[in-house]
Amino acid sequence: MPVQMPTKRYKTRKHYPDREMKMTQGFSTRAIHAGAAPDPVSGSRAQPIHQTTSFVFRDAAHAANLFALQEFGNIYTRLGNPTTGALEARIADLEGGTMGVATASGHAAQLLAFHVLMEPGANIVAARQLYGGSINQLSHAFKKFGWGVTFVDIDDVAAFEAAIDDKTRVIFTESLANPGGLVTDMKAIAAIAKRHGLPYMVDNTMASPYLCRPLEHGANIIVESLTKFIGGHGNSIGGMVIDGGNFDWLAHKDKFPTMASPQSYYNDMVFGEAFGALPLGPDGTNVNIAFAIAARAFSLRDLGPAMSPMNAFLIMTGCETLPLRMERHCANALKVATHLQGHEKVSWVRYAGLAGDPHNDRAKTYLPRGAGAVFTFGLKGGHEAGVKLVEGVKLFSHLANIGDTRSLIIHPASTTHSQLTDTQKTAAGAAPDTVRLSVGIEDAADIIADLDQALSAL
Ligand SMILES: *Cc1c(COP(=O)(O)O)cnc(C)c1O
Repeated sequence: MPVQMPTKRYKTRKHYPDREMKMTQGFSTRAIHAGAAPDPVSGSRAQPIHQTTSFVFRDAAHAANLFALQEFGNIYTRLGNPTTGALEARIADLEGGTMGVATASGHAAQLLAFHVLMEPGANIVAARQLYGGSINQLSHAFKKFGWGVTFVDIDDVAAFEAAIDDKTRVIFTESLANPGGLVTDMKAIAAIAKRHGLPYMVDNTMASPYLCRPLEHGANIIVESLTKFIGGHGNSIGGMVIDGGNFDWLAHKDKFPTMASPQSYYNDMVFGEAFGALPLGPDGTNVNIAFAIAARAFSLRDLGPAMSPMNAFLIMTGCETLPLRMERHCANALKVATHLQGHEKVSWVRYAGLAGDPHNDRAKTYLPRGAGAVFTFGLKGGHEAGVKLVEGVKLFSHLANIGDTRSLIIHPASTTHSQLTDTQKTAAGAAPDTVRLSVGIEDAADIIADLDQALSAL
């Protein structure tokens, strides 16, 4: 079947029906409108749910072009779907990236993003303060692929640089780190990554793009769980890889063969060339979507963790109220943290939004709209008191999630972080006395009253 050689110019991009809106309107407007135009066939104003596995080709040439990446369009829902595509466009827009790739979960987003960058024998330099599941993924699951990881303390910027060797392919941190609510000095870490010709990948789950946009602070790739604040209602698992469009893959050819060398399975196309500088921007500016294309056309295609269209629809609906919810989340969290600070059963509170917190200055720089909804505090009664508290609350739900409308509580040492050693637990901000809250958007007085009744029973 004759296939055209890759061209560098793609005039239309169905994933971006209202690309022109990017950055010209405010965040709240874009949280509702980006990526979603009324359906041209039915006039449906809400995003239609394209609950289908596959899409009919117009003719054989159309099919061949789609498979050879000569034209963007729908083939099969593992590779992409119009409902999911609308969500991808919206989140990429909100993060200020060039293109998004939706995945079945936040962990799947991490898998795809690392899969593009890594080879057996390569390593990741990562912050030690990560979501417990991410520590497991990086240190155990990835080991079987031959990918190494060095964890360094989030506050020891020099240690990031010292950990880099010639096999390092990426630096990875969270923006606002789970579970401790610590704020990463992203500008300093981005500068190190740049000096060493490495992409800086940031997990922006805890902050959400409403509170923080890491691409504005020098990050190159965003991964995030949409399960948490973006979906926001605790009803769907999902994730997203977002290409910052700001890394020159071809300048580091030897390190990133997936991006910079010919791929035999796509007619020797070089992703970094074919998709590295496309005139797709709002004013004809060049847009680099090469990483997102590789994450989809290689990693998502072959590994398979695609998002379901139904989940994309639910997450998109949730996303429309992200700004309103985040404002309430942050205001409530600050009230609850302030209250706990003065409580006799509580030994410490770590919330970057509190004046006097070691990361309060960083929060002002990186999270000017609020320090998020998730924070930790310590109980004088230690491990035992932690277990008792999660059983004593009534309004709070005891579960392993964050970012729901509801207030959530967990004792990390006996749950999310239980597979870590005691030293790792403490290093990750999940010491035995530590309780983590994800403060919901109920009335603050009710949230505080519930904690008070459970604390008084300790
Ligand atoms: C929950 C979470 C993840 C994983 O996301 P899933 O959607 O559960 O796979 C990754 N990073 C952070 C910071 C999280 O909170």
